[in-house]
Amino acid sequence: MTYDYDLFVIGAGSGGLAAAKRAASYKAKVAIAEQDLVGGTCVLRGCIPKKLMVYGSRFPALFADAAGYGWKVGETELDWEYFITAIDKEVKRLSQLHVSYLQKAGVELIPHRATLVDPHTVAVDGRKITADKILIAVGGRPLKPNLPGMDYGITSDEMFHLQHKPKHIAIIGAGYIGTEFACIMHGLGCQVTQIIRKELILKGFDDDIRTDIQNAMIAHGIKIIPNTVVEKVEKVPEGLKLILSGEKTEPTIADVFLVATGRVPNVEGLGLENAGVELVSTTVEGPGYTTMKAIAVNEYSQTSQENIFAVGDVTNRMNLTPVAIGEGRAFADSEFGNQRRIFSHENVPTAVFSTPEAATVGLTEAQAREKLGNDAVKIYRTRFRPLFHSLTGAAEKTMMKLVVDASTDKVLGAHMVGENAAEIIQGVAIAAKMGATKKDFDATVGIHPTAAEEFVTMR
Ligand SMILES: Cc1cc2nc3c(=O)[nH]c(=O)nc-3n(C[C@H](O)[C@H](O)[C@H](O)COP(=O)(O)OP(=O)(O)OC[C@H]3O[C@@H](n4cnc5c(N)ncnc54)[C@H](O)[C@@H]3O)c2cc1C
Repeated sequence: MTYDYDLFVIGAGSGGLAAAKRAASYKAKVAIAEQDLVGGTCVLRGCIPKKLMVYGSRFPALFADAAGYGWKVGETELDWEYFITAIDKEVKRLSQLHVSYLQKAGVELIPHRATLVDPHTVAVDGRKITADKILIAVGGRPLKPNLPGMDYGITSDEMFHLQHKPKHIAIIGAGYIGTEFACIMHGLGCQVTQIIRKELILKGFDDDIRTDIQNAMIAHGIKIIPNTVVEKVEKVPEGLKLILSGEKTEPTIADVFLVATGRVPNVEGLGLENAGVELVSTTVEGPGYTTMKAIAVNEYSQTSQENIFAVGDVTNRMNLTPVAIGEGRAFADSEFGNQRRIFSHENVPTAVFSTPEAATVGLTEAQAREKLGNDAVKIYRTRFRPLFHSLTGAAEKTMMKLVVDASTDKVLGAHMVGENAAEIIQGVAIAAKMGATKKDFDATVGIHPTAAEEFVTMR
């Protein structure tokens, strides 16, 4: 049986692009379908525009810090339209760059939505195209709880296109997206209220990271309302009125309401049932939620249909860009490069680009204690004022922590809150991935004077 393509990829985001280019490098005949601009969530409405907003949001604190070094900074003002337009221009430039990478790699771009007709056929723009293998890399989208008035809320997708700077933004969601936007918008000069269902933000991260970031955000002036949920939203003359229940019941009125309560895989309308691709369900916590469905895959990203694979957020394994890329490349190496391999989801470093920033790799203290037993874990922790702030007078603190297996001395986890945490943890992650011991950390000479050197001097 001959097919139109060796590989047909649905979705030109992080995972799909990486897999398509890698497969083409092995001389496979590859096509990729994309219903939107090329680049996916990360490039268009995720990591990249968000990080540019983070950079923009950190200037006011730097202007204030400069005084401690003798600088007199005059009046400052943000040109919102310029800021949003500059970010949008950069995003479009990057999207075009990805189109040119596809051309260079010899991958055919089909700029349309694709759906499955049967295990070897996709429907695209009224045409039927066949392929030996199909990769589903369609990502996910924001999920809003099904509660009255939620339509007044916007999601992270719209945060990059706000026409005006909000005066007061209310955010629901305690995950990294809600937390990052709370810090971004506060840094840009908005009043920010973040409403969270539990006591602390950032569930799943080490407790020291969770408390240190939350305390710093509150100290910076962000209002965090814990143990509270939004019951409904009403439009009133002053803006949007959030009716609350839980620890706080006094309504919050804001002009913009961001719903950052999670994301769901894009599995609807793909024709998965035509091709025998099975889904796996997980229960989603919280009011107004039900279950969420993702494509079920094995460790080789293979679905229940043997020639169909899925990578990235649509499989809801670990929803990060480098993970989608890693899964995509492992798939292409295995299926087209004669190097059958599994992408490891262990020791994946990650960051929260809040202010202060946090980054982490490996096990949290709680996970290590649960896995090894309470006494089998040694914790090294330091909190200090970074040298930069010795002249600014700001009360900013840096926290660093190592979670160590007491019997083998192996570093199981490294966690940091503070400036450049993501840049620092990236290097520490190499050591963690290689199985370094605390002794290896101690034997490493620090770079002085830096914050990072604390990772090799903790006692
Ligand atoms: C606000 C925000 C901030 C983030 N920040 C970070 C970060 O700092 N670091 C990090 O690592 N990750 C971050 N992420 C997560 C990251 O963006 C995703 O994990 C990553 O983009 C997933 O890649 P993917 O290939 O699975 O899907 P996507 O990148 O979402 O790509 C899927 C593509 O498929 C297309 N598509 C869907 N259905 C079809 C169809 N039927 N036919 C054709 N095309 C289709 C979509 O248009 C899309 O372009 C962030 C996400 C968000 C929302």
